[in-house]
Amino acid sequence: MEPADVLAGLDPEQREVAEAVRGPVCVLAGAGTGKTRAITHRIAYAVHSGVVDARGVLAVTFTTRAAGELRQRLRALGAPGVQARTFHAAALRQLTYFWPRVIGGEPPAVIESKVPLLRTVCRSVGREAAQAEPRDLASEIEWAKAGQIYPEEYAETVKKTGRTPPIPAEEMARVYDAYEALRRERHVVDFETILELTAALMAEHGEVAAEIRGQYRYFVVDEYQDVNPLQKLLLDAWLGERDDVCVVGDPNQTIYSFTGATSRYLTGFPVEHPGATVIRLVRDYRSTPQVVSLANRVLEVARAPHRLSLVAQRPDGPEPAFTEYADEPAEAAGIARAVRALAETGVPLRETAVLFRINAQSQVYEQALAEAGIPYLVRGADRFFERPEVRKAVVLLRGAARSAGAGDDLAPAVHHILSGVGLTPEPPAGGRAREEWESLKALAELAEDLAAQGADLPGFVAELERRAAEQHAPEVEGVTLASLHSAKGLEWDAVFLAGLTDGTLPIVHARTPEQVEEERRLFYVGITRARVHLGLSWALARSPGARSRRPSRFLDGLTGRAPAAQRSRTAGTAGASPRQRTVAAPVSCRVCGKTLTAAAEQKLGRCAACPVDYDTGLLESLRAWRTAAAKEAKVPPYVVF
Ligand code: ATP
Ligand code: MG
Repeated sequence: MEPADVLAGLDPEQREVAEAVRGPVCVLAGAGTGKTRAITHRIAYAVHSGVVDARGVLAVTFTTRAAGELRQRLRALGAPGVQARTFHAAALRQLTYFWPRVIGGEPPAVIESKVPLLRTVCRSVGREAAQAEPRDLASEIEWAKAGQIYPEEYAETVKKTGRTPPIPAEEMARVYDAYEALRRERHVVDFETILELTAALMAEHGEVAAEIRGQYRYFVVDEYQDVNPLQKLLLDAWLGERDDVCVVGDPNQTIYSFTGATSRYLTGFPVEHPGATVIRLVRDYRSTPQVVSLANRVLEVARAPHRLSLVAQRPDGPEPAFTEYADEPAEAAGIARAVRALAETGVPLRETAVLFRINAQSQVYEQALAEAGIPYLVRGADRFFERPEVRKAVVLLRGAARSAGAGDDLAPAVHHILSGVGLTPEPPAGGRAREEWESLKALAELAEDLAAQGADLPGFVAELERRAAEQHAPEVEGVTLASLHSAKGLEWDAVFLAGLTDGTLPIVHARTPEQVEEERRLFYVGITRARVHLGLSWALARSPGARSRRPSRFLDGLTGRAPAAQRSRTAGTAGASPRQRTVAAPVSCRVCGKTLTAAAEQKLGRCAACPVDYDTGLLESLRAWRTAAAKEAKVPPYVVF
């Protein structure tokens, strides 16, 4: 393929992105304007014109699926061999490759979840920790680690920022500290530590940094608006003194700030990289003018600081449909009918998505689609009846049904059983814990509904089993059911944004103006997934006759309706300060303090026989590297374009 062929399918601004083969380049553009397309073509253009070797390109994105899509598009553009990975996958590869050589022995195992370790530490830390939901604690530790906030800094930082921790800050700091200690003792790493250790290896071992930087010379980051401080630290380590980096993103699509992500790295890019080429794309190639107009109005209402108004390129399509339903089952059935009607006009089921705020919402849509005989797949989450918390609850309910005196009132009996597996009166703050709670709550609400119809516990369990069985029907291709978070970067011909009520979108625990604005960005992400057909709907009550709810405040003005009212780590190095260890040639074992004579041991920094004290040493040097001042300097000021 000739370089000119790569440019053929691009508009003038996208072409500018592709032709700016040397960084730093920043593309700030709205949804559907072809950012992902522009960076793929930029890489292919640079490869075909001989600016870089494909193997020297590292393209980073946020989901495995997006990374796979980048690789596929690059193959189609004649540029196989480019490394397109998520931050975690790229870091894990490097860590696994360099570990045996630099540290010695097997690299630590990766843990998918912090929860089992937290279950162990919580028992001994304090009363609040013992009673807390481990998943909430896990989310909080993830937030702290992604923000490079260490256990000993945690309590003070939380107080300064006004953040509400799941348990009192001092106790949370002890949980975090104990978690990190147990994690090191077990020689395991979580996702954040993978990134941290890779950056630390590069900071402490110049030869590792030189090798990685020698290999990767050309960096591209998609969805840069959702980069967190730890990912930014790693990107900076990869870059070293260079600035051949191209970032693309949309500040109006920042939807992960609860994990510490910030669009300030994107909007501050020109300040951090003076002389950067900044390119804006405004033509929307994804959606019809009707969908684009609605997306633009959402940004206007939000008074979004980054007015990246979109200009539609596609031909006219139908107006977005706003539909109010009396209750959720009616809403789900209405959506199933609309999906069927669209399918009859030629919109394939695989080109249709039903998007919602939280995974627990999927159950009612799964049910309605199953009843209508429409195949579906659930993205980014287990199907409702396959979720661990639901399966556990169903097992317990089934056991209780066998031994029930049935005179038992259904709703209180179910509440009692579900409270044993985590259904608290008040919902947890967020994250996975919140979703588990929502799943259990959905079960409890179903029990209430069925109780009103005279059902008993065995009847309720029989109904659950009937529903579970119906939803296990195998399907090959079907409608996508996905949370708004997992729909990022994707597109479908027809999109149904469902369950748009206040309390669900914005989610009830979004209390601060910043949290509500992040919810509004989720709404914008949802709208901009649609190419042609867009349906927005809400139900005034959860079930027939239940208390009424208010449509989402984000619909005000759109529908024509009047708006309703770090830890002081025990240095394992016999008192040597991190900085000394970093700069002085290692002459004594950092574990036992013995003088090292063998060159190989000096290189390792410890006796070959001493246990690996891997991340204490590595991370200490990382911290020395990341002085408080440097940290501040790395976060550019907020810039309004
Ligand atoms: P998001 O912000 O949602 O990630 P994006 O800016 O990355 O969106 P892409 O996914 O790259 O947008 O492009 C959106 C759609 O528009 C895709 O189907 C893409 O193929 C198409 N597209 C982009 N640019 C052009 C173009 N110049 N000509 C024709 N189609 C285009
Ligand atoms: Mg994209």
